[in-house]
Amino acid sequence: MDLIDSNIARAAQWIAGADAMIIAAGAGMSVDSGLPDFRGSNGIWTTLLPAGMHEPDVNAFTQGRCFADNPREAWRFFGRALDVCRETAPHAGYALLRDWAAAKRHGAFVYTSNVDGQFQAAGFDEARIIECHGSIHHFQCARPCSPATWAAPRTIVPARPPRCIHCGGPARPNFLLFSDPSWVVTRTNAQRLRMEVWRGVPANAVVIEIGAGLALPAVRMFAESLRLPLVRINAHEAQADSKSVLSLQGTALGILQCIDRSLATGSGVARTA
Ligand SMILES: [Zn+2]
Repeated sequence: MDLIDSNIARAAQWIAGADAMIIAAGAGMSVDSGLPDFRGSNGIWTTLLPAGMHEPDVNAFTQGRCFADNPREAWRFFGRALDVCRETAPHAGYALLRDWAAAKRHGAFVYTSNVDGQFQAAGFDEARIIECHGSIHHFQCARPCSPATWAAPRTIVPARPPRCIHCGGPARPNFLLFSDPSWVVTRTNAQRLRMEVWRGVPANAVVIEIGAGLALPAVRMFAESLRLPLVRINAHEAQADSKSVLSLQGTALGILQCIDRSLATGSGVARTA
């Protein structure tokens, strides 16, 4: 048995023996569904470019003020991004995590920097998710005139950019861009509070950190801050510098499938905690 196999088997044992799972997911989790990280680095933005728009144009849309400065162009880009998120089915790794969590006494809580709503689309409980950078599926005032957020409308027409439901000014998605003091944190803070309440309940939770890179380390820092056994799945940055961190180098979907096979057949460990 080589190192990766033995680490897969250990990860399966940690997961099987836990009474709850905390899933900490970064961009690498969405990549296997074909989605980019909206706050990530340049290249991946190009996959979402509407016709006639070029990569240099996209840099403007990484800045928080783009919705107030040029709402029509911003909505050409983000309207398309919203459509892509709605049309993209979560990959099979989400269902594996959901199945494992369903067998836990205290289920799972998700902490993700992804704004794409893939965990909700995969059937995870909305009340058990923290979206630390917000969500493209919720809107806010671009100014903002109030801390309110609301569900994204069914269709976006860039020629008539979405309006704030309170003041009638430009609206924007409720997620964090760069240089973005206008991001409304109300919804994310409410999510954080729900997790604080839940966290006191499990006696031996395991953390499964997936595709969380070092460049934008919010998810990784959160996962490590919990001081629990941590399974780290990462294609490029799987370093583990502590005995409580188990390193599994590979893609999210590939490694989750390996762990699932180990849970089902390996070492006689039942799936239930
Ligand atoms: Zn407003």
